[in-house]
Amino acid sequence: MVVFRSEELDLELSFSDNVIHELQKYRQTGAKLETGGMLFTSSLVSNVVDIDLISSASDLDVRKRFGFIPNKRTAQTMIDKNYKNGFYYIGDWHTHPELSPSPSTQDLKTIKSLFRKSKHDLTFFVILILCQSNSFKNSYVALADGRIVHKCKVKTLL
Ligand SMILES: [Zn+2]
Repeated sequence: MVVFRSEELDLELSFSDNVIHELQKYRQTGAKLETGGMLFTSSLVSNVVDIDLISSASDLDVRKRFGFIPNKRTAQTMIDKNYKNGFYYIGDWHTHPELSPSPSTQDLKTIKSLFRKSKHDLTFFVILILCQSNSFKNSYVALADGRIVHKCKVKTLL
């Protein structure tokens, strides 16, 4: 398990070993194109949010060496399907071919506008940029509302 924490928002995101294992399959190593998907949780009641489920790219998504654009319609179908099974959509993930990724200007714009345009009761959306290295902790994780992106830090577990 790896926990990322935002001090400003007093919020923690917990990625289970299963989810990390699943994500690791998509690391952008070699000449692979960017890929991505969505993040879901089954519980929104505490300030520790468990990422319980992820989706991966569909055939209709646009994948480039530097860029990933999910198909809106297939994304919405997936969101609706998971919602019926008790999983809430809380953000997106995508890969970068970087050992310790940093968000592009477009990434930051996208997550803020996604927050504004989506219908939801959340106070934040999650953005995860999966690192190329096999240490998941080097990934970029942030919480965004319509205006501000709060970068999270790995919480050291005792
Ligand atoms: Zn990006």
